[in-house]
Amino acid sequence: MLEIKNLHVKLEEEDKQILKGVNLTVEAGKVHAIMGPNGSGKSTLSYVLSGRDGYEVTEGEAELDGMDLLEAEPEERAAAGLFLAFQYPVEIPGVGNMTFLRTALNAQRKARGEEEISAGDFLKLVREKAKSLKIDADMLKRAVNVGFSGGEKKRNEILQMALLEPKMCILDETDSGLDVDAMRLVAEGVNALRDEKRSFLVITHYQRLLDHIKPDVVHIMADGRIIETGGPELALEVEKNGYAELLAKHGISE
Ligand code: ADP
Ligand code: MG
Ligand code: MG
Repeated sequence: MLEIKNLHVKLEEEDKQILKGVNLTVEAGKVHAIMGPNGSGKSTLSYVLSGRDGYEVTEGEAELDGMDLLEAEPEERAAAGLFLAFQYPVEIPGVGNMTFLRTALNAQRKARGEEEISAGDFLKLVREKAKSLKIDADMLKRAVNVGFSGGEKKRNEILQMALLEPKMCILDETDSGLDVDAMRLVAEGVNALRDEKRSFLVITHYQRLLDHIKPDVVHIMADGRIIETGGPELALEVEKNGYAELLAKHGISE
């Protein structure tokens, strides 16, 4: 599904190398987690994959289902089935949530050369998805994220994810972290959307999210590289012992 080979990335603005040879393969239907100390390049990896400005790929490749991701425009990546959650937890006063979600879906359809969904069909679809995720339809009537609690913003992201039906979902928990309730919501959403074709890359600083989303594979990222790969036990080991030992083993200073 997702294949990253020897990916090197620097900042466009300054001569700072952030990713220093990332290798990662996520198979269809699998959930991979990336953990790692703050500043190791986890968010950068998700931004580069989604096509955010400000980064320059100096070496390596990334493919989604055989498509060259790095050459594609962000809309093309989304059309190909890539979804980065929690990228835009922005508030958009004056824009109704329904309009926002429909615009996102139609942008994806347009990039795929498909017809726009009609207002009526969209209403049916969004209600159905909201119901299956146990999301209160009232949230659809409000302006995007305005006055939403942290948990409601997460719910909205999950709903957006469900509507777009991505093949490859990247979730970056970010360093702000989630409270226990928001974490449970995210986990429930992810678990509801898990299937044999859809893959997830769950980026998290803490192990606790992985108590709720059981990963198939866990990677540890440090200093712009993936330094260890294992099963769920690797996350537990890190939780117990911290990163110091692993970093020392790979000659990385903290
Ligand atoms: P993580 O998500 O693992 O905490 P990041 O990808 O956010 O790591 O950051 C990796 C490193 O790159 C950090 O040292 C961070 O300060 C630096 N970095 C990332 N983006 C920028 C930026 N736009 N400008 C300056 N430094 C950046
Ligand atoms: Mg950080
Ligand atoms: Mg981060």
